Order: sequence, then structure tokens, then C-alpha cells
Amino acid sequence: MTRKVHIVPHTHWDREWYAPFQSFRLQLVDLLDDLLPSLDADPSFVHFLLDGQMAVVDDYLAVRPDAEATLRRLAASGRLATGPWYILMDEFLVSGETIVRNLQMGLDRAAAFGGGMEVGYLPDMFGHIAQMPQLLRQFGFEHAVVWRGVPSPVDKDAFWWSAPDGSCVRAEYLVQGYGNGAYLPDDAKGLVSAIEDFERDWKDALTGPILWMNGTDHLVPQLRLGRLVAEANALQDDYDIAVMSLAEHLDQASAENLPSWRGELRSGAHANLLMGVTSNRVDVRRAAARAERALERAEALAALFQPVDKWPSALLQEAWLHIVRNAAHDSVCACSIDEVCDAVLHRYAEAASIGEGLAQRALDALGASVGGDGPVIVNPTARARAGLVEVIVPGTGLRPGAQILNERPADRVVGEIDLATMAGVVVRELKHNRRIEAIALESVETGEELWREERERDGSMLRTGTRAELDELAASGSGSVRLRVRTKPTQKLLVRVAGMPGHSWRSWTPAPLDVDAAGAAERSLWNGLVRVDVADDGTWSIDGRGGFGRIVRGGDVGDTYNWCPPDDDVEIDTPEHIEVVAEESGPLRARLRIASSYRWPSRQWGPPIDVDVTTRLELHAGEQLLRVTTEWHNACRDQRVRVWFPLPSPDDRSRAECSFAIVERGLTAEGGPNEIGLPTFPSKRFVQSGGLTVVHDGVMEYELVDVRDGVAHALALTMVRSTAMLGQGPMATRPLPAAPMIPVEGAQMLKLVRTDYGICIGDADPYALVDELLSPLLVTKAGGGPRAADGQALDVDGAVVSSLRRVGGGRLELRVFNPSDDITIVALDGRSGWLIDLRGRALEPFAGSFELGPWRIATAVLDS
Ligand SMILES: [Zn+2]
Repeated sequence: MTRKVHIVPHTHWDREWYAPFQSFRLQLVDLLDDLLPSLDADPSFVHFLLDGQMAVVDDYLAVRPDAEATLRRLAASGRLATGPWYILMDEFLVSGETIVRNLQMGLDRAAAFGGGMEVGYLPDMFGHIAQMPQLLRQFGFEHAVVWRGVPSPVDKDAFWWSAPDGSCVRAEYLVQGYGNGAYLPDDAKGLVSAIEDFERDWKDALTGPILWMNGTDHLVPQLRLGRLVAEANALQDDYDIAVMSLAEHLDQASAENLPSWRGELRSGAHANLLMGVTSNRVDVRRAAARAERALERAEALAALFQPVDKWPSALLQEAWLHIVRNAAHDSVCACSIDEVCDAVLHRYAEAASIGEGLAQRALDALGASVGGDGPVIVNPTARARAGLVEVIVPGTGLRPGAQILNERPADRVVGEIDLATMAGVVVRELKHNRRIEAIALESVETGEELWREERERDGSMLRTGTRAELDELAASGSGSVRLRVRTKPTQKLLVRVAGMPGHSWRSWTPAPLDVDAAGAAERSLWNGLVRVDVADDGTWSIDGRGGFGRIVRGGDVGDTYNWCPPDDDVEIDTPEHIEVVAEESGPLRARLRIASSYRWPSRQWGPPIDVDVTTRLELHAGEQLLRVTTEWHNACRDQRVRVWFPLPSPDDRSRAECSFAIVERGLTAEGGPNEIGLPTFPSKRFVQSGGLTVVHDGVMEYELVDVRDGVAHALALTMVRSTAMLGQGPMATRPLPAAPMIPVEGAQMLKLVRTDYGICIGDADPYALVDELLSPLLVTKAGGGPRAADGQALDVDGAVVSSLRRVGGGRLELRVFNPSDDITIVALDGRSGWLIDLRGRALEPFAGSFELGPWRIATAVLDS
């Protein structure tokens, strides 16, 4: 019987990796400079797949703008496949919104070239998130193409892959990767024999036509393909070989008797998953989270509190482009040379600056519009909540319900200056310092007042003639004078604000504390809800349950892709000595600082050095969450440092946040011949197990540890991995290299290492804890505008908000998801509009509320 063989010529373009972007771009320009005329000249080279990402097109056109018409013509005629993604992102280390925006940007851009490929092409991602089938379905795609992460129960080259909500796509599984037909043999006989070998190796897995992916990393097209295929077809009858697009192949692929899989793909059974990228370069993880959070918050604040015509679309577009480019799997995964990681950090910093700046603009706009002139508290999240804020108010002295952080008294000495040179200083103060009520000069020697000026009007206090007076005084003697000023006294207060509805603002008025006060003394913290006591070894107990915060340092001779302990690894988990200081003792915020000194090896087989680790424990009045920050200046190489937490009740499962979902995992992970299975999993913002919730800043790696009798008794969070190599040679946890063996000093993380997290015992909503830790209430200043002293911009109830922004025509677009097994009603406080898919296509109207099934994602545009 004749078997069909479908050849899809392509290249896999890692935009930056073991070489910087500009180096790979030079190669890209050469590739397309050769390819485009060849496609025109050789009709037998019928198709080329541009790696499923529009970044390749834009990076080329930035250098060859004149080629746009050719690219459009070839794409429109089907000779070139462009899109659908803007970039081939990593799925676990970026936010859900980044994934959605990436595909939206890619499809928008591809529309200019006749439309993107309608295939969820995911050839090289380091595993796949559980909700990917739902996301693809909401973009109208029926197919995914995957390689890494496919588990052993999938024994065919295709399977039905479903998301937690039941959305399902047909997933083509690239059994031998995206380069099974990478290199063309010299002659047609060689091609036939290579296909025969492949068929023999994979005969039990093949369900239909063989997919022959002719290309691999940065490989240039092999332009003799058309001739070779014609010769091979003439030579034999076993195979009917054709060059075509991936979409055409999938149209003809088999859908009969395929295995099924539900949820995430994180197995190393068939191919390297590269399980350790989550914990390399933790600075990149934190930078990614900061930038994504800043931008998502800026969108929401600008959408709610600024006029439609002030919507900052160009700046948001620029910032999202930085974030989406960074989402490339080698970029955000930081399995790259230092130059690339530097570029990634720079792009994240740019995006974060834009996001934070735009958020401030929106807050200021809200403040200016509110009546009065005092502090205005803003809840930037959709959830009703309470929390602590810092406000600056006139006055001094104790206030009910407040903790004084600092005070500026009315009268104070600014400094002592030389009489001969004081005139310039005083004039500058008079001209520019609008807060001064009075200014005086007095003799340091006698204390006698020599000169004085009182404010009589707004603006500058500088009079005509002042300078002459001061010059005369300067000429009258010598020595020093004291500069004394009087301003309105102010104090910075820490206060608690309760009962803030979602997306609301409220002018602050003093109120007594509505909950028990927080306190700290010696080695203890309390707030009436939680009590924390620090033990002699630097760990702490929560409500009498001890052993939290044990820092465990072990060796790591792996690389940026995989952790690998040395044969003779010795773990160090006890400090040489500790010191505990109560830094703040309430009544609003109580904080202890634990300084722990360790002796850690400076490197593998290196002598030990002193390491001073500082941990701050903080309790807020009225909150169950214990906030923790741990930091140290890292000077040690070749290591993994984790922090351990005992589970209140032993457990054999963990539930961690992933994009638009919570995924459940067990005590093991599936490995294979290429990679040992390690149950070190990524957690987006929280992980729960055995009655414990840990929320954290930046995607982090965790593992259930201290496994006895089939259950774990503790959870470990990786604070840093320090490794020497981008890609290591053969190692115990991964027998084959994953990348070039290049030393990367940056991966040693010889810098300030900081981890911010929160701990909560008991049943708490993890998304609420995430808001408490990462999205505090904000403060702006009322500017005497027409808006009421309090109000709510948008009331959303019943689901978690992922995104709120303005879209075409200035309408509000809201994206929510339901992270539960139960149907929920999403209530929008009387607002009506349309539910749309992720492509912006209308699905159905709603009025006031809509129903959202378990684990469903919904996007709504609201009528104004
Ligand atoms: Zn790649």
C-alpha cells in the first residue's frame, strides 16, 4: 500500500539564544534574501513555513523594507506560511495575558500578509499548559502541533488534547521532533531510505500520512527539495511524497482511534522537557512578573479612570511588544548567553517603566477629579478588600487607628552654612520651595536672629530687594549661620482601610482600628489572627507549628536547563548563628528581621565562605498572611538554595496556579531516557498543599519533599540556582547535552538574590492572597475635582479578572476565568454587552450577568 509522506519545509528561528539577537538576525536576513527569489524561480519548491511566528517577518522587514510586497505576494498565494504567533513563547514562565496578546498580535500582523496559519504550532516549547486547548479553541483553531512534554500514554503521532473545561483540539505529536526530516540526503534514493528508516522506527505510532519536517534550528532552506521529491516519486511506489503546508497536512491527517489526554503536558518520557529552567536566573522570573503585572494594572487603571481619548494605546503597544518578544522560549527561560539575558532584563525594565508610569498617570487623573485635597485610596483589583496604606497628612501626634512612620515638625533647622555664601542658598529656597511658611537666619555663636521672612502670598517668596538685604548681611560679618524654616507640619501614617469594593476609590478619613492590633517583641509577632515565634535555628513557628523557613543549600553541577546534584552532595541547613530584631512593633504593621550567618561552599569543591542571609517576617493588622522577604548578596557558585515549609497535614498532591487555571500534581514527574523525571514544578503565583498556601512574586519552582509512606511532609521553594554552563555535557539527570557548552557567568547569580512570598495556613482564597501580596491598595491625592469622595468604577463578581482594557471604539473589554469545578455567575452590576472570543468575534449578548462553566475563560465587551 502506498503511504503518503507530507514534507513541510521550514526553519526554526530562535530569535536569541546561544548568540545574541543581532547575530541571528544577520543569518535570518541571509536566509530570506536567498529564499524569496528562489520561491519565485522554482515553482516545485511549493511552500515554506516561517516558523509560526511573525517576529521573523518583522525582524527581516526592519532591514529589508523593500521586500514587503514580495512577502505579501508569496504569503497571499500560499507559498509562505506566516503566523499565527508573534513569537514562539514559553508557556509556563509568562502570564496568561502574555500568551493571549502574543497570539492576537501575531494574527493581527499576519492579517497584513493574507492571514496567519490557522494552526496552534508549538514545536519547541518546554511543555504545554493545561489551558492551551481552550485558548486555541477560542481563537478558532482545531489543531495543535507539539513535541516536548507529551506523556507516555500517548503512543500515537496524534491525540485528542483537552483543557480542564473540556475544550479539545487534535494535537499532532512530532514523534521525532520538528527536525525529523531536517537534512536532505544527496539523492532521491537517500530520501526514500531515510523515510523507510523513520517508518520502521515509528510504525506503531503512525496514524496516517508521515509528516516530514524539513528544517531545524536556524537551518537554511534546502532548495533542491522539489527536484529530489520528483525523483523519489519516480523511483518507487511505496511512498507518495508531496511538499505542502502544515495546514494542508493536518486537513488530511487521521482522526480515527486517537488516544486522549487532558491537562498539561510536562513529561520527559519522549523528549527533554528541560525541567529546571523555572529556577535558573530567578532575576529574569521576577523581572517578567513585575513587567506583566505593571502593564496589566496600567491597562485596568487607565481604562477605568482616564477619559477614552486619553487611552495610551501606542505606549501600551510598545510595552507589550517588549514583553511578547521576551516571551520567546529561549529568552524568558534564560537558557541563553549573558548578553541575551541582559537584553531580556532591559526589555522587561522598559515595559515595567511604561506600565508603572501609565498607572501613575491614571491614578493622578482619578485623584485630580475627586473633590477635596486629602489622600484618596484606590483598590486596583476587582476584589472587595481591606489593607494597609501609607498616607501623608497635615499635623503631628498620635491618631486613632494609625501607626506613625515619620513626622516633619513645623519648625526645623535645615543646616548650617557659611555667612559669606548663604545668600544664593536662601534665594533658591525662597524662589522654589513652595512649602515654606517662614525662613530665618540665626547666628550659630549667639543664637540671635539675624534675618527673617514670612510667607504673605502663594508662589515664590522672593521679593525685589531680598538679595540686596542678604548680601548686606553677608558683608556685615563672618562665621556660620543656621538656616531655620517653618512649614506646615506633616506626618506619614500607616493606616488600615477596610471594606473597599473592587475597582473603587475613597477619600481617606481617620478611623479607629477595626481589628486587633499587630505587635512585635523580641522574637515574636502577633495580630490576634496569627502568632509567629522565631526559634534558635532561624526557623519560625506559626501558631505553635514549627519548622517554617528552613533554608537548605545543596550543590548543583547542572546547567540552565536541568538541576543536577553532585555525587557527594552535602546539604547545609543550619546557620552558624542568628540575630533577631523587632523592626516595627505595630499597631498596624509588625516586623522582625532575622539575620542568619551560614558557611556555604564558595563553589563546587571550593572553601566555605560566610553568607549573611536576611529574612524579614511581617504581619499586618487584620490579615492572616505572613509576609516574608529573604535576601542576600550571593557570592556562592554551583548551588541550589531552597526554603522549606512543613505541611500542616501530610499530602500527596499539590495545586499550583498556571495561566487561567490551578493544576494538580503528584509526588513524581515522568522522565524518560533523555531526562530524569523530577517533581520540581513551576508555580505562577501560588501553590497549595496539605493546608498550606504559599503565594510568591515571580514564577517559582516548588517540590513536595520529605516524602514518607507515600505522602509529603514539607514543601520546598527554590530561591536560587547557580550554575556554570548554558548547556552542560552528559550529566546524571540528563544524559545528552541540550545546548552548546558555553560558560555563563550570569547564571551563577552572583548578585542580590531576593525572594518575596507569603504564607497562609487554613482555607483562604489563594487569588485573594495574591492580591494582598502583589497588588496593594494604592494612594493618590484629591485635586478638588467634581467626582464624589467615593465610588466604584466597575463591579465584577463571580470570577477572577485577568484583563481589563479599552479596545476598538473605546469600549471596555473584560477577561475573566473560573478556576473551579462549579458553574459561576459573573455579575457585572447592570452592565450589558457582548461575549466575544479571543479573536474579538461576537458570540452572544448578555445583560447584567452571564454564566461561566467550570474552568472557562470568557471575554466581554461592555456597552458604554
Ligand atoms: Zn527553539
